[in-house]
Amino acid sequence: MENVNIRENLETVENNIREACKRSGRDRNEVTLIAVSKTKPNELIMEAYNAGIRDFGENKVQELTRKMEELPEDIRWHMIGHLQRNKVKYIAGKVRLIHSVDSFELASEISRQCEKKGLWQDILIEINIGDEESKFGVSYDKVTELVDRIIGLPNISVKGLMCVAPNVDNSEENRKLFKKMIKKAVDINSIKMYDVNRDRSQSDRLLSILSFGMTNDYEVAVEEGATMVRVGTGIFGERDYLTGRI
Ligand SMILES: *Cc1c(COP(=O)(O)O)cnc(C)c1O
Repeated sequence: MENVNIRENLETVENNIREACKRSGRDRNEVTLIAVSKTKPNELIMEAYNAGIRDFGENKVQELTRKMEELPEDIRWHMIGHLQRNKVKYIAGKVRLIHSVDSFELASEISRQCEKKGLWQDILIEINIGDEESKFGVSYDKVTELVDRIIGLPNISVKGLMCVAPNVDNSEENRKLFKKMIKKAVDINSIKMYDVNRDRSQSDRLLSILSFGMTNDYEVAVEEGATMVRVGTGIFGERDYLTGRI
């Protein structure tokens, strides 16, 4: 494994987020940095933890539940990968946020599992913002309809939108897609849609979390209004999928 200085990488990422906030007139507190620890061993995760990180992202249920058991209890775990319905029972109500809900059926299963156990789950709707065949996510013009259906389900709450933008050489190419993400959230927030689980007098915006921006484009993402950025390689170094080490 390459020698990676996590503390130093985190300082760099933190500085970049701070600068991006400054450029766009945002408060640093509006942005949560999620350290994407998939494929990385516990020792490296603990280095990030000891440097103050508490939000970690994983994309596989088995790896996520194992790490959840082995690592400190105050870690906020984020499920950011594609989630199969038959695996929902292992994580529903146990993670801080499921970022990757892209169908009513998946949301229903999360709701059903949580209701059964008396648990609660906050979720995001994943949008296939680049309209890429290889990517998961609901298509852009189906998002409002999907949100409208999910907010009728018990024990689950839609908190925002998420996307995995295309892998581009120049991060500027994704700026227009991030603007589209913001536009969708603003549009939905302007419609009178009520989450059955929330008090109607609550003036909270329905969608307040915007999860986009990865190692290659998180600075542009922050400039455009992301409230959660998911950075893996920029913190932990390249991933080595070949060793099968998780
Ligand atoms: C792997 C992954 C990331 C992090 O990607 P990096 O390019 O390593 O920062 C972010 N979001 C999702 C959904 C991922 O699967």
